[in-house]
Amino acid sequence: MAPSVLSVRDDALAVLERLGVPASVHAQDGLPARSPIGGEVIATLRPTSRDEAAAAIGRAAEAFAVWRAVPAPRRGELVRLFGEELRAHKADLGRLVTLEAGKILSEGLGEVQEMIDICDFAVGLSRQLHGLTIATERPEHRMMEVWHPLGVCGVISAFNFPVAVWAWNAALALVCGDPVVWKPSEKTPLTALATHALLERALARFGAAPAGLAAVLIGGRDLGEDLVADPRVALVSATGSTAMGRHVAPKLAARFARAILELGGNNAAIVAPSADLDLALRAIAFSAMGTAGQRCTTLRRLFVHESVYDALLPRLKAAYGSVRIGDPRDPATLIGPLIDNAAADGMARALDEARAIGATVHGGERLRDIRGEVAAYVRPALVEMPEQAGPMRRETFAPILYVTRYRDLDGAIAAQNAVAAGLSSSIFTGDLREAELFVSAAGSDCGIANVNIGPSGAEIGGAFGGEKETGGGRESGSDAWKGYMRRATNTINYGRTLPLAQGVSFEV
Ligand code: NAD
Repeated sequence: MAPSVLSVRDDALAVLERLGVPASVHAQDGLPARSPIGGEVIATLRPTSRDEAAAAIGRAAEAFAVWRAVPAPRRGELVRLFGEELRAHKADLGRLVTLEAGKILSEGLGEVQEMIDICDFAVGLSRQLHGLTIATERPEHRMMEVWHPLGVCGVISAFNFPVAVWAWNAALALVCGDPVVWKPSEKTPLTALATHALLERALARFGAAPAGLAAVLIGGRDLGEDLVADPRVALVSATGSTAMGRHVAPKLAARFARAILELGGNNAAIVAPSADLDLALRAIAFSAMGTAGQRCTTLRRLFVHESVYDALLPRLKAAYGSVRIGDPRDPATLIGPLIDNAAADGMARALDEARAIGATVHGGERLRDIRGEVAAYVRPALVEMPEQAGPMRRETFAPILYVTRYRDLDGAIAAQNAVAAGLSSSIFTGDLREAELFVSAAGSDCGIANVNIGPSGAEIGGAFGGEKETGGGRESGSDAWKGYMRRATNTINYGRTLPLAQGVSFEV
């Protein structure tokens, strides 16, 4: 492990101070913010009470009446200023992601870069929130479609992308005219507070934004439930497990609120006979082991054609056996800790289940020599399965890659699609026909389908999200902004007669 001048706690406290997180958020008997690096408590935070959460939602609802009337390009100026703050403080915020979520340094920085990218995207978008003019059957009429701000946007986020997911939502919501109330993961409150502090700097520079335009609620699931239940919240964008989505979705549906659900994944890749195995090996290693297997898009299932299985597997085993695991602050580390002991226990259970149905497990052991019992370092597991069965059919949020052989591509695609989640997928092939089939309507049923890159590591320019139990939501690029606005169809009669549609006659 690399020597570090500061303890994790002192390191984090110094970063928080530089980022301007007020000391008043600390409390004696509050919510502990832990680092997975050594399991230590970095800070104890004053949780937001339910009354305070309700008041924050109320302020956001008041802010909406003002913010929706601010011209969208002007709203974009706030997001531009926020992007500037992120650029200026990228190193500190990225380090805090490492300290609080356990991501390796380059991934912590990458997460902040993603926030900067979505700010840039949203600024451009603020001049492009356009509707349509549609041909009307009536003379001297014009029909058009316009997009208006929707209302208060609640964001519920997961620990594994503690700040980027909020930014994907918030940057778009703010330019679309919506105030944002954020309930971050209870496992990563510090990065949320730091991000909010940077947004407050941007708000101060912007000057004219209404109070209550952005709020952060520090606490557990109950605060998320309050956001979901509150009729003043027009849209909830919830990122997390499918189990969470099962609670949230019916409640939002019951009050006809808008939902963007970004839930669990069980992502697969197919390695075809013509695949470039060097390229595939690197892509598989990053997608399956990167972020210690804690990405929603992590590669969890691999279908390898029987003709290349024996060529690929020994190389994969070697990569799994030699990858550097340890303190994520060490630049040589590729795999940091799991978020907590519960994650390591879940991984051990899934591996036991796999063994019980005939799997051969390589790696997967708990590395207690790194930080003893308090932190959860594991060697990623490569699991050779006789067939797709048992734990391979569900998401375990840990670095487990299940591998099985296939004979024909149709069968492999069917097996890939035969799980409940539908987030991300890829195929490695040099065969144009196979590639096109995979991305066709008869191919992958996922929201993301890639060719010759792994399933993880999406860019913000595309719409991000998945089908089936992944929830169906879309965030980030393309036209995902429409999810944060309401559509109105306007028909305008500039003539002096009143022709009715469909030729209906109604003379009074
Ligand atoms: P989690 O479901 O435990 O928690 C996510 C968030 O939901 C937290 O803020 C939590 O407090 C809140 N929450 C939990 N129950 C709730 C309820 N009933 N009502 C309202 N809020 C509630 O998830 P996690 O362990 O933090 O993250 C890992 C999971 O998130 C994985 O399944 C992963 O695949 C998924 N994820 C999905 C995406 C995506 O874009 N599809 C991105 C990141 C993570």
